[in-house]
Amino acid sequence: MKKFEDAIDYPLITKEEIKKRNRELGQQITNDYKNKNENLLIIGILRGAVMFLTDLVKEIEIPVQIDFMAVSSYGNSSTSSGIVRIIKDLEEEVEDKNILIVEDIIDTGLTLKYISENLKARGAKSVRIATFLDKIERRKVDVRADYVGFNIPDEFVIGYGLDYAQDYRNLPYVAVLKHSIYE
Ligand code: 5GP
Repeated sequence: MKKFEDAIDYPLITKEEIKKRNRELGQQITNDYKNKNENLLIIGILRGAVMFLTDLVKEIEIPVQIDFMAVSSYGNSSTSSGIVRIIKDLEEEVEDKNILIVEDIIDTGLTLKYISENLKARGAKSVRIATFLDKIERRKVDVRADYVGFNIPDEFVIGYGLDYAQDYRNLPYVAVLKHSIYE
């Protein structure tokens, strides 16, 4: 039987910190979009962003629409190739809409670069990015998030939607994975 304790090196971000930060981001997003008087379509990137998205949207005080996309990197999983495959596409049209992409974590930036360019090419009116976590020092391409939950060091983290080999997504806070699990 797998146990959380066996996988966790140390806790990095607590439940309380996440709740507080989501409230702040929700306020910021509300303020940025409330006077636009236009639709906001939130696009969650499956599966890692689900927890962040569901908590964040409840803190946004204007009506929004929600859709989801799932992507995967081509080839070798340990080295991001930058070539992204859409596994599940949107159900909504994006043309002329204000889009807010909601992602779990930005690492090299390759995934989000592809997704945001793809949405712009489909005629989105505006594309912004909200990421729960950001590992800015690992960036390979110039992708900047408009809303960042937390900047974190270059460690592999699990919890609050983030997995290791599909496990640990339901850990209700963020923790650093023990190196012995993947080394
Ligand atoms: P990028 O294209 O920015 O290099 O990759 C972003 C994706 O890599 C994230 O959506 C996530 O799936 C994965 N990733 C990067 N760092 C971590 C991490 O520390 N923990 C987990 N669980 N996934 C990560």
